Amino acid sequence: MFDLKDLYHDVVVDHNRNPRHFGKLKYPTQVVEGYNPLCGDKLRLYLKISNNVITDISFDGEGCAISVASASLMTDSLIGKTVQQAQQLFHSFHGVIIQQEDVDMAQLELLEKISALAGVKKYPARIKCATLCWHALQSALTGSGSSVTTE
Ligand code: ZN
Repeated sequence: MFDLKDLYHDVVVDHNRNPRHFGKLKYPTQVVEGYNPLCGDKLRLYLKISNNVITDISFDGEGCAISVASASLMTDSLIGKTVQQAQQLFHSFHGVIIQQEDVDMAQLELLEKISALAGVKKYPARIKCATLCWHALQSALTGSGSSVTTE
């Protein structure tokens, strides 16, 4: 069970030190840049979507520990998911982190390791770091633009 009070959860520290899926994709179908001016986090998200399934995803860029860990956890969770499942994950993550809904077990199970980031909701300044990659994802899935900013 994750301790939701802990900002720098072991899982977060691990994904910051060893980010998964870090680097460019060779033939992405979508590329979206995300920028969080409050912290200076800059990430680029690469997706390969085929037949409505995210067959590959990666990210690169520079950011704080939270933004990198969040992107690593997100990309790790999204490979093989359909676009609809990815949207569902986005909404669960958004509910837990932004709206500070009471976390129910079903959401935690859906989010799996991503719920290790739930501790950020006690640190409002860090929330945008954690959500940056998700906003980039949302933009990629909806085709609403090639760059996003948290402001
Ligand atoms: Zn940050």
